Amino acid sequence: MNKTKFRQFVEFLLKNNLVIVPQYNVEGYLHLAELKNPKDLYLGTELPLDSWKWYLIPPFQKMFDYKNDQFKEILPKVGKQIFLGVSILDLQALTLLNQVFEQDPYYQEIKKKTIVIGTSHVPKENFYKYFAKFEEDKLEHLQFDIFLAVQKNGYKIYSGSEDGQRLLDKFKYKNYQHIEYAGPIREEGLDQQMVSVMDGMQNFHEQKIWDDLGKRCMQCGKCTIACPVCFCFRMYDQSNLEKDSGYRSRCWDTCFYNEFTQVAGPAPAAPKHRLMNTTSQKIYFWYEHHFVRTPASFSLPGCVGCGRCTRTCPADIDIFQTQRDILKARQRKK
Ligand code: SF4
Ligand code: SF4
Repeated sequence: MNKTKFRQFVEFLLKNNLVIVPQYNVEGYLHLAELKNPKDLYLGTELPLDSWKWYLIPPFQKMFDYKNDQFKEILPKVGKQIFLGVSILDLQALTLLNQVFEQDPYYQEIKKKTIVIGTSHVPKENFYKYFAKFEEDKLEHLQFDIFLAVQKNGYKIYSGSEDGQRLLDKFKYKNYQHIEYAGPIREEGLDQQMVSVMDGMQNFHEQKIWDDLGKRCMQCGKCTIACPVCFCFRMYDQSNLEKDSGYRSRCWDTCFYNEFTQVAGPAPAAPKHRLMNTTSQKIYFWYEHHFVRTPASFSLPGCVGCGRCTRTCPADIDIFQTQRDILKARQRKK
């Protein structure tokens, strides 16, 4: 698709849809927002600071109402939306979220109204060698509707779903290739860098790494908000003044907050009924979630190497430096 045709494609998308894209705001930050003017669309190697999860997993969501013993599910009311310009790292993040929320009706309700258009731009922040460059055979392990592979004078177009094909057909564009999703597991298995970090954390634990990080981390939780694959919730049950009625909701949570692992217990000792009490325990737990539990549960990297957590951390904690420290400890102790 040459550049002129691509401009027409963007205008076509804008006609009837909410199109979310990376674009610079007035302060010069690249972020995700609704596209009003095609000229504002940014397609390149820089990553927006916020991630696409904002549009798939609302930070606050009502789940159901109850009255007496009757429950009424409240599915999110969203219109059609198009994510345009999803980097290859963020496609990997969405592929993981699709698996995590495979049985979640709230996520699925939004997802079925969402078209994802990825690009082959490799972000500068990228940490993993696997994503160092785009190769066509990587596409079969990513979930998308349409993919734009950057070429000298435009894009080579791929479809990755029937929705993507329908959209291209509607635009009367035939020159695309279809890629069938082959599942998350690559032929060579899990990412080798990820496997080494996993092994380092599981078998060559070095407490000093976590104690040092624990002294620096302020438990602000910004890294979890910025991360495209952090997905933990806090559930609330709210009763109404009216007898035997109320609702349940969920909102984003972070494992750095004290209440995250608080469990019931007798007052006044209740505040101590937590599974994690020190900052080093919390930060270890966060890394363990990304580098051990997620790959073990979903056969996908629990970190896509986008560096958003590092960019937002007020304590300058660099996730890639921590990974290097884990690998060095592993090397020393092996
Ligand atoms: S680099 Fe940080 S923000 Fe990005 S996926 Fe990994 S843990 Fe999340
Ligand atoms: S952003 Fe940094 S300081 Fe804040 S919780 Fe995360 S690691 Fe700790």
